Amino acid sequence: MFSSFLIKYGEIGVKGKNRYIFENALMHQIRYALKRCEGEFLVHKAEGRVYVDALSDFDYDETVENLKTVFGITGICPMKFAEDEGFEKLSKTVVDYVAEVYPNREGKTFKVHARRSRKSYPLDSMQINAQLGGVILDAYPELSVDVHNPDITVYVEIREKIYLYSQIIPGPGGMPVGTNGKAMLLLSGGIDSPVAGYLVSKRGVKIDAVYFHAPPYTSERAKQKVVDLARKVSKYCGPIYLHVINFTDIQLAIYEKCPHDELTIIMRRYMMKIAEHIAKETDCLGLITGESIGQVASQTMASLACTNEVCTLPVYRPCIGMDKQEIISVSEKIDTYETSILPFEDCCTIFVAKHPVTKPSLDIIKKHEHNLDDCIDKLMDEALSTKETIIVSVE
Ligand code: ATP
Ligand code: MG
Repeated sequence: MFSSFLIKYGEIGVKGKNRYIFENALMHQIRYALKRCEGEFLVHKAEGRVYVDALSDFDYDETVENLKTVFGITGICPMKFAEDEGFEKLSKTVVDYVAEVYPNREGKTFKVHARRSRKSYPLDSMQINAQLGGVILDAYPELSVDVHNPDITVYVEIREKIYLYSQIIPGPGGMPVGTNGKAMLLLSGGIDSPVAGYLVSKRGVKIDAVYFHAPPYTSERAKQKVVDLARKVSKYCGPIYLHVINFTDIQLAIYEKCPHDELTIIMRRYMMKIAEHIAKETDCLGLITGESIGQVASQTMASLACTNEVCTLPVYRPCIGMDKQEIISVSEKIDTYETSILPFEDCCTIFVAKHPVTKPSLDIIKKHEHNLDDCIDKLMDEALSTKETIIVSVE
């Protein structure tokens, strides 16, 4: 029934040169999302609007579902377009449109909202509103007009062709990926970090990721789970460069040389250091973690202060104020939850202390880290040299 979609996007801050960057990034991400769909599409810009035209048969539901993954889109409007063949023909097209889209019309209210971009059209928008309103009422006396708060607004846009739409399916909002730089996500196999990546990406940030594994303490399955999570997130944020680092020797050294109740904090500090190193090499402007205040011992305010202290890049923690249930709701929405709860060990669960410190003192942590002085630089270099980069995307 529909042959095209008008894509609505938020225009705040989208002025001048920014507008062009915003629209191009939006079209790029729309094309990426549509590669997952049956059919061929043309994504184009005309008169300051972005359109998706179907060039072949396509699956409507699948197409809408995938358009809903494109940040920056605020509304998806399935459209029909008609050639301009006179007002009579237009009236018939509009009447047929209403019948098709609204088979149950009893008691509903409507209005026509015309926009005349082509000024040579013989009627102005007020006249079009009035005349098409009359035609619809004649055809469907069960409808009535309400210009203030109608159930149905039939948008009629007079351009080179004539566009008709009345449904605005909400998009995800946010900003198109690629309009706000890039950040490095510390991606574990848990529930929180995929959500964190999604939330930052929603503001237009491109995501790379780093995963620390500890073979043989963590399995190939655990790594595959992280790849699977990255793939699910990449549906929204585009292809992800996932860097996998072998962290085993660092973990063993910490285990051997540092107090066990400080293991997690010290380990997290080295993860952040390595992540930051890779981030800087790859032009990332910040780090992202799934931390949330108080969730576990390593995420108390004192623990976060210790972890944060090793970083010079800003660390974004979009889940910081969210309760677990709120984070789970987002993970269900983006379909990462079921993967996140698969029971594969991650490298943190192997080396956790029974009673980790909840109020670590930075001075004491730093003092104990000196126990690693004779080996840590070498171990960090070796860990970095194990970097395996997997490009993850859904196309
Ligand atoms: P999540 O639910 O995000 O997996 P978590 O509940 O396992 O986190 P922690 O182990 O305290 O919580 O980790 C806090 C954050 O540190 C994670 O959200 C993630 O950003 C990062 N992180 C933890 N383990 C790893 C890992 N093995 N590789 C990469 N990042 C990690
Ligand atoms: Mg967590």
